[in-house]
Amino acid sequence: MAVERTLSILKPDAVGKNTIGKILDRFESAGLKIVASRMTHLTQAEAEGFYAVHKERPFFGELVRFMISGPVLISVLEGENAVALHRDIMGATDPKKAAPGTVRADFAQSIDENAVHGSDSLENAKNEIAYFFRATEVFARTR
Ligand code: UDP
Repeated sequence: MAVERTLSILKPDAVGKNTIGKILDRFESAGLKIVASRMTHLTQAEAEGFYAVHKERPFFGELVRFMISGPVLISVLEGENAVALHRDIMGATDPKKAAPGTVRADFAQSIDENAVHGSDSLENAKNEIAYFFRATEVFARTR
């Protein structure tokens, strides 16, 4: 399997509930490595740009308001099959439908406040990583 990188965001609800460590532990325990990470408070323009693909959806305004409601932790995770593996650990978008033991089942409140974002394809991962990080801010972890 190929080594990939994916973008992971711990959303304002997860940061606000002080569950950063518990959630990152799920990813690290599954073999993913943190190769970049930054806490930031997104601006409205950054959140709108990041979720531009959803701008015609009815939940867009609420989504942007939520994403700028507090700080987020944005990370790049690296490992074999990282994009799909990270999505599996996250669980379904709606925590009520997320499989037991997934991050969203265990830490998320609702479909709109759902603890974590993860890239949904390798191509989107590349674009999302470049949206938030310069190449020099992402570190090689293989020894
Ligand atoms: N979202 C929402 N209401 C919905 C569907 C999605 O608020 O009915 C939000 C939710 O935070 C979700 C994000 O929009 O994580 C992006 O939606 P997507 O369908 O891409 O889900 P994801 O890839 O995050 O599972």
